[in-house]
Amino acid sequence: MIEHFLALTPVEAIQTGEIKPKGDYLGTRGYIPGSVLRGALAEWLKAQDKASQILPIVQQIRFGNLFPSVSEAVWTLPFPMTAMECKLHSGFREVPLGDARNAGHGIRDSLLIALAYAELERSGARFPVPRLLRCTFRDKDGKPCGGRMERVGGFYAKLPEGWKKVSIPRAVQTKVALSRYRRASQEQMLYRVVALRPQGVFVGRVWTDDPDILDVLREAVQNMGVGALTTRGFGTASLRESDVRFPTIDKRLRTFNEKLREVWHDLAELTKQVGSSVSDEPEKTYFSVDLLSPAIFTDPSGIPTLKLRLQLNGTCLEPVWWATQPVFVGGFSTAWGMPKPTALGAAMGSVYVFRIEQTENEIIPALKNIETQGVGRRSDEGLGEILICHPFHEEVMLV
Ligand SMILES: [Zn+2]
Repeated sequence: MIEHFLALTPVEAIQTGEIKPKGDYLGTRGYIPGSVLRGALAEWLKAQDKASQILPIVQQIRFGNLFPSVSEAVWTLPFPMTAMECKLHSGFREVPLGDARNAGHGIRDSLLIALAYAELERSGARFPVPRLLRCTFRDKDGKPCGGRMERVGGFYAKLPEGWKKVSIPRAVQTKVALSRYRRASQEQMLYRVVALRPQGVFVGRVWTDDPDILDVLREAVQNMGVGALTTRGFGTASLRESDVRFPTIDKRLRTFNEKLREVWHDLAELTKQVGSSVSDEPEKTYFSVDLLSPAIFTDPSGIPTLKLRLQLNGTCLEPVWWATQPVFVGGFSTAWGMPKPTALGAAMGSVYVFRIEQTENEIIPALKNIETQGVGRRSDEGLGEILICHPFHEEVMLV
């Protein structure tokens, strides 16, 4: 299926639900899950008495997620879990002009160092000192900061003029409660709704070979709105196709392996100083699978797991390195007016690295397929959306 970028501009605040609603408080996610777009499409078809077309149509489109962005042409991404910033002065160092007050000591990625370190150790290397990740920012006098590095959450945009963390502010409103089943207000029940303010734009991907479906989706968003509470002042938005330039899988895979080679070489030099005999360069091809949304995996016996396994060109691959954490995956079906079953999944930002004997050129077509299809269960509604070799891994942290 063909990849298309979409840009959604909110007119009203957007409520995209949360996994576990607490009492009288309805939270929201910081992005628009693909399931919300799919829900809008299904509701629109139902409203036009075309319910029988829902299944055939949604089977021809796969929904990614829309992330908060600063421009229709910029695809904002969640940071991978390996991205780190200085605990003392957080934030990007190269920020756009006018954003200087948000500048920090820099945000870098620790994956390629961790990967080279792990692979060299596996091949018998010893290192003179334990690996410490400290802030290497130097002040005017050349004194290094040395602050601890910690994980960065949220989304970032890479703009021609610099880097930017991106999030859409939330707003709270108090509403009279609606019964989920009767869709009528229950007396004297108030609850607070947290929603994303109607500002900025949300950008992300869908895959379909039928451009007419995109027109129907655009009508659906414009007429039905997106997210929860669309009849109560939330969710009005417009949608259109967007021209986003983003590095291809080929390019990302090559850069990933080039940068790994550099980091590997430096670490191999270090370990030779203490007498280890290791190879100067990686001998195989490596690639990462980065989760842009939560994903639900099961192992071959059907038991839930956080570990991603891949079938690639007839080989069953297990990750050689990964970073993940568990998260509840649920949701609310606007089409059915019912909560969806909750499952345990791997969180957005999870990183899995695989090693394969085949060359970069040999695996590119298969990697493109995996990225188009997504991984794990319910990938048709935006779960398990992935990037092969997330470009942020190229922003290598200095040792
Ligand atoms: Zn620092």
